[in-house]
Amino acid sequence: MNPDVRVRFAPSPTGLLHIGGLRTALYNYLFARHHGGTFVLRIEDTDQARYVDEAEQDILKSLAWAGLHPDEGPAVISTDEKTSDADATGGEAKNISRIDFDTDIENGQGAMDGEMDYKGTFGPYHQSRRRSRYSMHAQQLVDSGHAYYAYDTVEEIEHMRERLRTPENPNPKYDAQTRMQMRNSLTLSEQDLQELVEEGAEYVVRLKVPQGETVPFEDMVRGPVSFETDELDDQVLLKADGMPTYHLANVVDDHEMKISHVIRGEEWLSSAPKHILLYRFLGWEPPVMAHLPLIMSPSGGKLSKRKAEEEGIPVNVRDYRRDRYERDAVINFLTLLGWSPGDDRELLTLEEITREFSIGRVGKSGAIFDFKKLLWFNEHYMRQRDEGELAEELMALIRERGLPGKESLSEKEQALASDKDFLAGMVRLLKERVSRLPEFLEAGGFFFEAPAQFDEKAVKKGWKEDTPARITRYRDQIAGLDDAAFRADELKRILTEMVEAEGVGFGKLMMPLRVAVTGAGSGPDLFGTLELLGRDEVTGRLDAALQKLG
Ligand code: GLU
Repeated sequence: MNPDVRVRFAPSPTGLLHIGGLRTALYNYLFARHHGGTFVLRIEDTDQARYVDEAEQDILKSLAWAGLHPDEGPAVISTDEKTSDADATGGEAKNISRIDFDTDIENGQGAMDGEMDYKGTFGPYHQSRRRSRYSMHAQQLVDSGHAYYAYDTVEEIEHMRERLRTPENPNPKYDAQTRMQMRNSLTLSEQDLQELVEEGAEYVVRLKVPQGETVPFEDMVRGPVSFETDELDDQVLLKADGMPTYHLANVVDDHEMKISHVIRGEEWLSSAPKHILLYRFLGWEPPVMAHLPLIMSPSGGKLSKRKAEEEGIPVNVRDYRRDRYERDAVINFLTLLGWSPGDDRELLTLEEITREFSIGRVGKSGAIFDFKKLLWFNEHYMRQRDEGELAEELMALIRERGLPGKESLSEKEQALASDKDFLAGMVRLLKERVSRLPEFLEAGGFFFEAPAQFDEKAVKKGWKEDTPARITRYRDQIAGLDDAAFRADELKRILTEMVEAEGVGFGKLMMPLRVAVTGAGSGPDLFGTLELLGRDEVTGRLDAALQKLG
């Protein structure tokens, strides 16, 4: 156990949490749990322009749904949404506690004004509430000569780019090469600067990246990595609105929150050298870094939103929550999206994963998001669950979104939709045939309503001239059964007896019977289906089919 291990998940609330973001959170969580350390959630909400209101709630709810409860961070999930998600997950979301801590909440005009509850003593855990720290450290960097004030307008910078653009350097940077030609505290005279200050001119603070240096560091996933400072621009640290950029805020907070390991996606690797420089200039020890492999689409290339959409892969965690994916399946799948236990085991419990997890076995090359595999995990975990429990989830799902393809529910459908035994029966019959909870309703629509149409192919194949007479005989026999006798085994016995007496194959009766009752040529166990539908419903459907199909 190592209480010095402190990791963080630091999402920006700019949109719904991406499934790749959940993997980052998961790896941080696993690393913390494996080492007996602390898992921190920090909301990086300094980009006011890209702030999305519902994004933060979505992040909190998604983490709660996945069971990745932060030890420190914002502790509130808005109550109305908490109820619906708690329903959906068997109460998981309730585990988020509302603990009040004494934190030095600033009165900044961040995106998250108002009272906040936090768990942990390193708060506030919203960057918008930590503004004074960033400006203080930016000042420190200016004072020590590692940063400077820049007064250039967007047009001036654009003008510089145009002027210096060459085929070899199509996008000239604001850097050691160009900064001396710009309007900043390195080039302006004392007097000009004084005037600008008096005018209240807008400025940004830029990092003074040294020229001709190599910045090496050891990445836990990638091994030794190094970047040339000549490739870096003089990164803006503090924007004109006084808000820090990601780089400054991230470094200041990781330091102040005593983060020991930074575990994040590979897309941040190129930012790491800027961060390393910042740590050096601020006189701080940088955390150990680990950049997780990119998530790739099965058809190649990064799994972008657009690509995922094209390939029918849901990318927002909210989609997984709404479609009631199995939490254990998603966790198991995401764990293996970049990490391996070192042998060919695939089904792993959270306990096993936590015990065995190490960054050393995270791969360098892109991890392919094999959606079919995810469905395979989902089937596996779903089939292991109690039928009554799944029935209750189905009930909640119908309450939430009705039945597929229906505007509203009839009285009968409503009664069935709140009959737990009936839904559990459906689950039993369909369990081996579906991979996701909503598919029970897609595959089992006929349980709620008699078929309005009959599958043409199946009718052609199975509904022959002698079928109506045979169906009628069977119908009359089973109509005489009392409720207790209307069971799958008895229904099967009667059918077997009939086909044997008539010297025909099983299918002669099974096939048209299925079509008549369900409308389709294939489906779950027929006798179980008849039993669940009940005598009156089955005989009614047979009568209707006989009328329609002749
Ligand atoms: N706010 C960044 C993000 O949205 C955090 C990156 C990091 O972990 O340093 O992913």
